[in-house]
Amino acid sequence: SSFRHEKEKAVNVQVLLRCRPFSEDELRSNAPKVVTCNDYNREVSITQTIVGKQIDRVFTFDKVFGPKARQKDLYDQAVVPIVREVLEGFNCTIFAYGQTGTGKTYTMEGECRKAKSGPKGQLPADAGVIPRAVKQIFDTLESQNAEYSVKVTFLELYNEEITDLLALEELSKTTLEDRQKKTLPLMEDGKGGVLVRGLEEEIVTNADEIFSLLERGSAKRRTAETLLNKQSRSEFTNQSNLFFFSFSFFLKFILFVLIFSRSHSLFSITIHIKEATPEGEELIKCGKLNLVDLAGSENISRSGAREGRAREAGEINKSLLTLGRVITALVEHLGHIPYRDSKLTRLLRDSLGGRTKTCIIATVSPSVHCLEETLSTLDYAHRAK
Ligand code: ADP
Ligand code: MG
Repeated sequence: SSFRHEKEKAVNVQVLLRCRPFSEDELRSNAPKVVTCNDYNREVSITQTIVGKQIDRVFTFDKVFGPKARQKDLYDQAVVPIVREVLEGFNCTIFAYGQTGTGKTYTMEGECRKAKSGPKGQLPADAGVIPRAVKQIFDTLESQNAEYSVKVTFLELYNEEITDLLALEELSKTTLEDRQKKTLPLMEDGKGGVLVRGLEEEIVTNADEIFSLLERGSAKRRTAETLLNKQSRSEFTNQSNLFFFSFSFFLKFILFVLIFSRSHSLFSITIHIKEATPEGEELIKCGKLNLVDLAGSENISRSGAREGRAREAGEINKSLLTLGRVITALVEHLGHIPYRDSKLTRLLRDSLGGRTKTCIIATVSPSVHCLEETLSTLDYAHRAK
């Protein structure tokens, strides 16, 4: 309707839904499909009959990408206009939101290892939003006759603590304790904004460099996993106790999943373009694109946020919960927008609301095993519209 259209224009929050294909595990276990996407009508239907209970729901989004949608389709239809806006000097943010294992990282980063082997100057089919955005930025800048600079930062937020994913240090020397000590402070910059003290800013000069940066970031995100593996191997050789080995492996696996699914990663690209006006004056345009891979949405529902126990939930993932409140406040035009309540929203303050574009990509699995979480993701994402 025209009302919704106006509202969308005023708030500039776009909500997309992406449903990934069945995984090999899901196919092997013959998991029934409960999610049906109609990309053309922008609808997602959930159908499932459990003895005595029939679920039948339809959700509409700004765009829907079913299991057959390729990385390129999503990028061309949803992200290209946002990056154009950034190149015009505005700040924009894209979030991936959904249950762990539904494709947030696949959507944002894609498969970096495979991506690297692609032919030079051409993106591999698996490349996600981040490498595609960087390519679009350089393609545009290189075709214009202006001076420019492109800088990126990549950080992780876990338990309201910031770690730099680009800082170079020897992985082997990093212990979990070191990792905690290396957290960076978030400070007011005195101009109404914030800055992360000590955060590495990497200057990028061409699109190909992005894969090594992503790889570096992902390697650091895997630090915990690396440590865990090393430890378990030594335990195995020292004790030669298979039971002990598998038990400790199990514990470590759980720890790994917990850390991974509860951390957010924020990749920011800042572009400065120096232009000359027809009057011969110099004009500097500055735009920023934030690409956020959010913590698993199960952290919200599990903590009982839906039952209103917000305090407990806040302790588990303050940033995820506050982000929801900030977006609701923006969409509903509430007077007070609680940016200050979490680190993530403080970091993104200059890129949410006002003359900015925000895009939320909600990700789900088609399988019956994820039904409850899928419904909760659809409800959450639908509310953000
Ligand atoms: P998350 O980051 O949400 O936890 P991942 O991005 O790690 O989830 O995805 C889980 C698995 O599913 C990965 O192996 C990924 O390659 C695969 N996957 C996710 N989305 C898609 C998709 N649209 N097409 C093909 N494979 C996908
Ligand atoms: Mg992930």
